[in-house]
Amino acid sequence: MRWRVVLELAGADGARQVHEVGASERSPAGHTAATLGLGLEEGKAILAAVQRHLVGAQVDQHCRNRRRCDRCGEQRPLKDLRPRRLVSLFGVVAVRAPRFGPCRCGIACRRSLTPVAEIMPGRCTPEYERVVAAMGAALPYRRALALLGEFFPPGGAPAVETTRQRTLRVGARLERAALAPSQPPAAAPEAGAIALGIDAGHIRSVRSHRVRSFEAIVAQVGGAEGKAAVFGGVPAEADRQQQLRGVLRTLGATPSTPVTILSDGAEGPRALGEAACVGPTSHVLDWFHLAMRIQHAAQAAKGWPAHTPGEREEGARLAEAVERIRWRLWHGRVRRALDLVGETLARIDAMTEAAPVAASKVAALLRGLETYVSAQADLIIDYARARRIGEPISTAATEGTVQWLLHRRMGANQQMRWSPRGAHLMLKVRTAVANGTLAADHVAAERWARRPFRPAA
Ligand SMILES: [Zn+2]
Repeated sequence: MRWRVVLELAGADGARQVHEVGASERSPAGHTAATLGLGLEEGKAILAAVQRHLVGAQVDQHCRNRRRCDRCGEQRPLKDLRPRRLVSLFGVVAVRAPRFGPCRCGIACRRSLTPVAEIMPGRCTPEYERVVAAMGAALPYRRALALLGEFFPPGGAPAVETTRQRTLRVGARLERAALAPSQPPAAAPEAGAIALGIDAGHIRSVRSHRVRSFEAIVAQVGGAEGKAAVFGGVPAEADRQQQLRGVLRTLGATPSTPVTILSDGAEGPRALGEAACVGPTSHVLDWFHLAMRIQHAAQAAKGWPAHTPGEREEGARLAEAVERIRWRLWHGRVRRALDLVGETLARIDAMTEAAPVAASKVAALLRGLETYVSAQADLIIDYARARRIGEPISTAATEGTVQWLLHRRMGANQQMRWSPRGAHLMLKVRTAVANGTLAADHVAAERWARRPFRPAA
C-alpha cells in the first residue's frame, strides 16, 4: 500500500498551493504491529512539513500585505532579504524576511519595515515558549529537551542554555505581571476565613555566591471554598510580602478576613505571613511538624530490644507513653504532655544500662520534642477540637508543596546550583504550573515581554 499526505493552502485571492507533506509505502504482504499506522518519525516529519509550508505561506501573505503602501497603494521597494528562524513545537522554520524601504510617495511611513518581525517578535511561538518553560520548570533542562525531542520534530533544538534563559524569562515576566499596579483587584468573592501555610526550604547556591545555600519561602493559601493557591519566592529577591498579599487577595482576603497562619514555628516564615496579611491573624503550630517529631519518637520506641519478656514489656510501655504524649498534644494539653515526656525520660534514664543504644536514641528524640513543644507552646492549640469544627490544623499539603516546588527540581539532592535570582524566577514558573495557571498567566504577561522588535506603524 502506498499513501501520501497533501497539504492544500488556499489564499484569500483564491490562489491555491498544494504540497506533499508525507508519503510512504507499506509492504502489501504481511502487515505487522510495527508497520500499522504512523510511526513517531513519520509523524514528526509530517508535522514539520505542514508547519514549514504553513508558516512560509503565512509569512509570504503578511509580507505582501505589508509591502503595499497604505497611502498610495504602491509597492514599497525591497531593501534586502535576511534569513530568520522561527522556533516552534513542530520544528524550526527558516524564512526569508524582507526589509522594505519607505514608499516613494513618502507620506505614509518614512521608515523601513520588516514585516516578519511583527509576527515573529520572540523568534519562537508563544506556545513553544510556554511549553519549554513548563517542561524546564518540571525537569532538568537537559532532560526536558530530550523529552521534547522525543515527541516533537527536531531541527535546531535549542541549547540547554537557551532553554534556561527562556524559562527564567517567562518567570521574570510572570513576576512583573503579578506586580503590575494596573492589575485589577481580583473578582474573588470575600472569603470567610483563610488558612495560610508557610514554610521555608533551602536551595543550593552557585559557587560564586557567598553562602552555600539560601532560603526560599513557599506558602499555600487555602480559602473557605476549597480554593487554594501556592506561592513561592526567594526572600532576598522580591518584595515577597506584597506578592503574597496579591495571592491572598485573589482568594478573596479583605481587611476583615481572619487568617490562620500555620507554620513550624520558625520566625522567618511566621513574620512574612504576618506582614502579608491585612486582616486579623492567628498563629498555629502546624500539626504536621509536631506529629512528625512524635512519630520519630514512636518509631524509636518500636525499636526497643525485644529479646526477653522484660524487654518486650518495657518497649510496650514506652510505646504507650509516646501514644499518650501524642494524644495530649493533639488535644492541646501542653503542660500535661511535657509532664509525661519528663516522666518517660526519667524512666528511660533508669533503663540506660539495660538497653544503652535504644535508650539514648529514644531519649534524644523525646528531649528534642520537649524543647520544641516548650518553645512553641503558645502556638499549640486543641487540634482535635479545631479539626472537629473545620478549622485548619496542618499544612501537610504545604509540606508536599515545598517538596514539589523546591526539592524535586531545586533541592540539595539535585545537581543544579542556583543563584537567588534564578531560583526566584524558577519558582514563579513552578508555582504557576502548580496552580494550573501557567497558560493564562503567560498570555496575561505577554505585554511584559521585552521583544527585540516593535511592530512598525
Ligand atoms: Zn505610498
